[in-house]
Amino acid sequence: MSEQFTPVSTLGEFGVIDRLAERLSDIPRSDGLIEGIGDDAAVYRAGNDMLHVMTTDALIEGVHFDRTFIPMQFLGYKAISVNVSDVAAMNAKPLYATVSLGIPRNMSVEMIDALYDGMSSACKQYGMELVGGDTTTAHALYLSITVVGEVSEHHVTFRRGANVGDYICLSGDVGGSFAGLKILLDQRQALQDLGDAYEPDLDAHQYVIGRQLRPTARLDVVDMLSIIGVKPTSMIDVSDGVASEIHHICKRSEVGATIRVPEIPFHAETQAVADQNMDEIDAYALFGGEDYELLFTVDPSDLDKMRELEGVAVIGTIEDQAKGVRALTPETGLMPLSPAGYQHFDPEEGPTGPGIGPDLGPEEINFSSDDI
Ligand code: ADP
Ligand code: MG
Repeated sequence: MSEQFTPVSTLGEFGVIDRLAERLSDIPRSDGLIEGIGDDAAVYRAGNDMLHVMTTDALIEGVHFDRTFIPMQFLGYKAISVNVSDVAAMNAKPLYATVSLGIPRNMSVEMIDALYDGMSSACKQYGMELVGGDTTTAHALYLSITVVGEVSEHHVTFRRGANVGDYICLSGDVGGSFAGLKILLDQRQALQDLGDAYEPDLDAHQYVIGRQLRPTARLDVVDMLSIIGVKPTSMIDVSDGVASEIHHICKRSEVGATIRVPEIPFHAETQAVADQNMDEIDAYALFGGEDYELLFTVDPSDLDKMRELEGVAVIGTIEDQAKGVRALTPETGLMPLSPAGYQHFDPEEGPTGPGIGPDLGPEEINFSSDDI
């Protein structure tokens, strides 16, 4: 053992993953493995033309959620959804799930019932089965789910396939989950401040709260793409924000990108929350996490089909790697886009860091953030 103590925070989440992948790199690689660490799910051969995908994600109380404001049923549903979202990002369908559950002493049987009702309803919706798991005691509620799915070799889609000239597409709208989290945190603060005088004020924000507490994996988009005969050249799900995800696609595909910010769809309620907080809506759209939409690239020959597709927006283009990842807005023109925020050419000149607007720091309050 080395005497050195390097705080994990010096590497951050993605630095840690790169480092541990390096330490595992001398394990002999089997012929059946098609994609290991580095995509939304691992991919291995399951039959002649059939591939399996495998993904695992944990939700931990105090890190990813606050038990005071997520009903157990929603938590169960969300835990399955976030895993299925990674399966969808491979253009695959989920088959089976297992669950590791850590139960703290202050949890009732009725709460566990509700948690499993939520998981059951998600499994039914996604056409998959929950086939096992593990149960232990824990200091905080802990939920780790593994999902196996399948996809034909012809349909599998990686982060690494984007080509210069491809169009960047996004399903649904983004920023809503972050807006919902802001509302919930504000309400929690109001409850603490006002005590018995507290009256919840959630009706005007049902959409964004739903986006935060009960997100849906976009398997319907996977179906839709298959029906219209479009295979994306690359795909990822939006768990950490559009800006972060496009960086992953660009890094793995060795390309650059331009995101046309005004083309990114957001919901009217998301706009209302941004206005209320005097934040820039663009910051919610680019850096808000946990929307679980699909961000993908298509060949230019598929552009017409994408433009006709309801619920999918074309938000940018893939460029040469030398151009880097950039955002285009009418106000600022083309600017480098960092995974977590805008960076001007000259850092002295303008806002850097997590977002455009003042005091918008998704990483400070986003319970989904895996940053370490
Ligand atoms: P996602 O946000 O899509 O779930 P992550 O950023 O969590 O993806 O993970 C990126 C890649 O790193 C995936 O291939 C994942 O399997 C791998 N990975 C993450 N954590 C670990 C770990 N502790 N050990 C091995 N692989 C890991
Ligand atoms: Mg993912």
